Amino acid sequence: MRRIRKYGEEILRKRSEEVKDINDNILKLIKSMKETLISVKGIGLSAVQVGILKRIFIAYNKENSDLITVINPEIIENKGEKIDLEGCLSFPEIYFSINRAEKVTIKGLNEKGKEIVIEGEEVMARCFQHEIDHLNGILIIDYASEEEKKFYKEKLDNLLKNKK
Ligand SMILES: [Zn+2]
Repeated sequence: MRRIRKYGEEILRKRSEEVKDINDNILKLIKSMKETLISVKGIGLSAVQVGILKRIFIAYNKENSDLITVINPEIIENKGEKIDLEGCLSFPEIYFSINRAEKVTIKGLNEKGKEIVIEGEEVMARCFQHEIDHLNGILIIDYASEEEKKFYKEKLDNLLKNKK
């Protein structure tokens, strides 16, 4: 179980590095990310959110209870668009309305280093785009309107005030 970095912590703005070797440290990291994601009942978690700048994310598909690990993910196709409320473990109790592609196909590596291609729809499509944003230092607040930021001003200010 690892500490989840919150809005205001500088690391969340850094670009994560490509994983070149899936060694024991990377596998340990993935295991701890899975435990963390399950314990907080989240949908997605990127390595940077637990303080490690590596291009890895975990997604939990509630429909089939599948836990997906993607290393060095890339979007290879997207279709349609949809605006929906979106949260983030780094922004507790805050939801912004964000326009995302409705369907995405991503590719990357699994824990064994094998290339995988995954199609995501709805919640999973949103999750994949959100997690890949994290790996590039992009956060949900970057999509928020001034009204939304005003609405959550107190919560956002508290996060900045309490940053570690
Ligand atoms: Zn997030």
